[in-house]
Amino acid sequence: MAQNYVVSIDMGGTKILGALINSKSGIVATTKKPTERKTGKAKYAQALYETVEKLIEVSGVKEEQIKAICLGVPGSVNPHTGIIGLAPNLGIKNYNIKKDLQKFTKIPVLIENDVNLGALGIQKFGAAKGKKNVLVVFVGTGIGSGIILDGKLYRGTSMTAGEIGHMIVDPEGPVCGCGQFGCFEALASRTAIVRDIIPKLKKKKGGALVKTFRKTGQIKSRALAAAVEAQEKEAVWAVNRSCEVIGQVLANINNLMNFEMIVLGGGVLEALGTHMMPKIKEAFSRYTLKDPAKHVKIVESKLGDESAIYGGLALAEEFLDIKV
Ligand SMILES: [Zn+2]
Repeated sequence: MAQNYVVSIDMGGTKILGALINSKSGIVATTKKPTERKTGKAKYAQALYETVEKLIEVSGVKEEQIKAICLGVPGSVNPHTGIIGLAPNLGIKNYNIKKDLQKFTKIPVLIENDVNLGALGIQKFGAAKGKKNVLVVFVGTGIGSGIILDGKLYRGTSMTAGEIGHMIVDPEGPVCGCGQFGCFEALASRTAIVRDIIPKLKKKKGGALVKTFRKTGQIKSRALAAAVEAQEKEAVWAVNRSCEVIGQVLANINNLMNFEMIVLGGGVLEALGTHMMPKIKEAFSRYTLKDPAKHVKIVESKLGDESAIYGGLALAEEFLDIKV
């Protein structure tokens, strides 16, 4: 019998990443195209449908074998109505993307926030498979999280649950993108790490990080990892401070929620996990209550960029009651 599939699309600020997937074969085809922000909302739906068409073309799968199209959106969404509330990186505000995409195809369209989708993917197919009470935290340019309670994604009253990055850790700390001071992500994200390293590099002469920064004007996670590996003290200091804050925040949240597992992912952890995980766990153990600490495992996600893609399968199961 022919297999069924889901098309999972990650709508990033720079690229649209599409994948054809099912739980039996995993990802069977992928396609990538740049995000064209200037072309307007209606063209967005068309670009997404072209992604679906491309996947059909490269895989040879028939359209009727595709049971859902799942969109991962970097912003606030209402999965029941299909409306994107605000996605600043896509330049989209109050837009019913489901309705517009549905004009091109009869395949049911589902949408979810990309971080929530990543959490679903990890809980169904990744490190937290089979676990019921799970927190998934992604540390990258910002910090986001998805909360799974009793096996289900917890979305909150108005679908904004999981905004862990804006927990205020130090009201006298650095300003955050949200306008507050001392948010978790203003202290522990890659943006925060890099922000605090740069002034130190300007006074410094040698070292790989100085060279990378002078050449490219930026410091990415991989360059940071290489600098930590080489024991460059500015990098080690800033990354260790990030670990301390992450451990502290996770202990606070776990005291409240009593999770079974906390999964850490995102670009920073993917590049620096070996260095960071022991330090995060050590900080966690200093701040946590004893009993919840005994019952929670803190692990790294191994799914990388694919977690949100896998999350599409979980979303289809939740909203369409189908296992693909
Ligand atoms: Zn904030």
